[in-house]
Amino acid sequence: MELKDAAVLVTGAGRGIGKAIALAFAKAGVKTVLVNELPSESNAADETVLAIQNLGVLAEKVLWDVSDFKATAEAADTCKLWAGTVDILVNNAGITRDNIFIRMNEDAWDKVLDVNLKSVFNCSRAFLPGMLKNRWGRIINLSSIVAFSGNPGQANYSASKAAVAGLTKSLALEYAGKGITVNAIAPGFIDTDMTKKIPEKIFNDLVAKIPVKRMGTADDVADAALFLAKSSYITGTVLHVNGGLYL
Ligand code: NAP
Repeated sequence: MELKDAAVLVTGAGRGIGKAIALAFAKAGVKTVLVNELPSESNAADETVLAIQNLGVLAEKVLWDVSDFKATAEAADTCKLWAGTVDILVNNAGITRDNIFIRMNEDAWDKVLDVNLKSVFNCSRAFLPGMLKNRWGRIINLSSIVAFSGNPGQANYSASKAAVAGLTKSLALEYAGKGITVNAIAPGFIDTDMTKKIPEKIFNDLVAKIPVKRMGTADDVADAALFLAKSSYITGTVLHVNGGLYL
C-alpha cells in the first residue's frame, strides 16, 4: 500500500507529539487522518482536524478514552465508517502521575498503566483484524527514554513504557509474515505540555546534559513516525529520538 491510500489513526492527537504526528502524515499526503482525543470541553481535536483539512486531507475526530477496552471496540466501528480500515495506528496517548515510589498510590500506578500500556493492547486488538484482512499495516507505539534509563519519580511511567517496548517486539514477531510491521519510538526530552511540568532547576540541568544541546521537538518525533510508516523491512525496533541523551 502507498501512503496516499492509507488511513491513519493517531491517539491523543489534540496536542503535543500526537498532533505533530497527525499533521506530518497529512503533509505526507495520506488519504485520511483520524484524530483521537479524550472526550472533553476543549476543542483541541477540532483544531487538529481543521489544520489537516486545510492541507486538503480528509480528517475526522473520534473521541474516546483509549484505556477503556469496550469504548475502544465501539470506536473502532465508528472509525470504520469514516475511513474503512485503519492502515496505520499510532498509539501515542500517554500520561504521567509522578511521585517517589514510596508515596506512589495505587491510583497513580493503575491510571498510568491503563492509559500508557493497556491502551496499546486495546487499540492493537481493535485495529489489527482490519490490517490482517488487507495483509498490510503499521503499528507505531510511543515508548520513552525512561523505559531504558529508568527515572526517579517515574516508576509507574517507566514500567508502562518498558512494557510497551516488550509488547511491540512480541506483536512484531507475530505479524511480520502478514505484511504488518510493529515498532516503537522512544523519545527523550521533548518540548510539550508533558515536560512543562518539570521544575525549572531539574529542567535546566537536563537540557545541559543533552549532547545535541537542545530539547527535542514534537516534529522530531513525527519525522520518526513517518519514517517507520514508510519502512517495510523494519519491525520490532525501538527508535530512540533523544539527541544522544541515552545511548
Ligand atoms: P501531552 O502533551 O501530555 O499530550 C498527551 C495527549 O494524550 C493529550 O492530547 C491527551 O488528551 C491525550 N490523552 C491522555 N489520556 C488519554 C486517553 N485516556 N485517551 C485518549 N487520549 C488521551 O503528551 P506528549 O508529550 O505529546 O506525549 C505523547 C506521547 O509521547 C506519550 O505517550 C508520552 O508518554 C510519550 N513521550 C513523551 C515525551 C516528552 O518528553 N514529551 C518523552 C517520551 C515519551 P488531553 O488533552 O485530553 O489531556
